[in-house]
Amino acid sequence: MTVDLRGKPAVSSETANVAELLATLVGFDTTSVKSNLALIDFVRDYLAGHGIKSTLIPSSDGERASLFATIGPAGDGGIGLSAHSDCVPVEGQNWSADPFVLRERDGKLYGRGTCDMKGFLAAALASVPLFKSRAPKRPVHIIISYDEEIGCLGVRPMIERIGRELPKPAAIIVGEPSGMMVIDAHKRIDSYRTVVTGREAHSSMPQLGVNAIAVAAELIRELDRLGADIASRSNDRRFDPPFSTVMVGVIRGGTAGNIVPKTCSFQWQVRSLPGAAPAEVPRDLTAYAEANLLSRMQQVAPDANIETIAHNTVPAFLAEPNSPAVALALKLSGAETTHTVSYGTEAGLFEQAGCPAVICGPGHVAQAHTADEFVAVAQLDACMAFLARLSDEVGA
Ligand SMILES: [Zn+2]
Repeated sequence: MTVDLRGKPAVSSETANVAELLATLVGFDTTSVKSNLALIDFVRDYLAGHGIKSTLIPSSDGERASLFATIGPAGDGGIGLSAHSDCVPVEGQNWSADPFVLRERDGKLYGRGTCDMKGFLAAALASVPLFKSRAPKRPVHIIISYDEEIGCLGVRPMIERIGRELPKPAAIIVGEPSGMMVIDAHKRIDSYRTVVTGREAHSSMPQLGVNAIAVAAELIRELDRLGADIASRSNDRRFDPPFSTVMVGVIRGGTAGNIVPKTCSFQWQVRSLPGAAPAEVPRDLTAYAEANLLSRMQQVAPDANIETIAHNTVPAFLAEPNSPAVALALKLSGAETTHTVSYGTEAGLFEQAGCPAVICGPGHVAQAHTADEFVAVAQLDACMAFLARLSDEVGA
């Protein structure tokens, strides 16, 4: 793996290992849906080199795999360190260098996934010798998933095995970028696809057709209105923004400039505050379509239709009061208060499965998913210090 650190890396001796591991991890193009097996093989071999056995949980097509490995005593309990191996695409982004070659400049390490979230994975792997040297009385589990970025898909089959074939950790630290702050709640994500079916016609005779794009535009305007309505009704100051949000992310429709388009589909999502009722948005959109659009469309084309399909849900995360995971992360980080984030993670799924979870990891979400994504060396240092205190904790 090429490491282009451009001269002397500005990393302390403590994290030199981390930068090297991060360079290797970044070198694997693990964009979601692509295979992550090269990365998983590397991690499995690395752990095997430290005498640690890994369990792989392959995807149904065998192209990707999750990994679960335990340092210390076998069995339930102990602390899970959870990372997703996949990253978001680089296509269409204006990177100033190869996104899959780690570069260091001014105390920052650049590359796809450095912040979200190979930095945490590198820190966890770099800490393995330390964990081992402490002969931990409680296990530390390395938990790596795939396809997190497209709806936390890959972790689900692994979670089904936790507490059965796989040990059940007493607490799981999800190392998503939080600036090493302790995060005890995040929003829920519900993703939908709405498909408008109209009727084709020559563009000179639009009255003979049903313009699916024009109908989609009306539906999207209604979604914006519903979003503004929700925003005006909810207010939870722990979140930024302090309300549930509605957003359209992808739209596709039409075939040519001179054909009234028959189909248009758009993907949208609702990010709800924990405890809010996300189902009301698709219900309200359908009611709007039935009251205002469908009969008008069907007068021209009886088979015209509007259908909204629920695509995926990432549950909200809200740590239980007195969560041992939150207490542990506060102790290890020295922080006194917890925070929330608006992005989704696997933490809610772990919590649902009975594993108390908390989010705490290096890097800031502002740099995640962007061109020239980076993690600051200081953040990796803080994460290494956090994990060193964890090694004291499990070794005591
Ligand atoms: Zn992430």
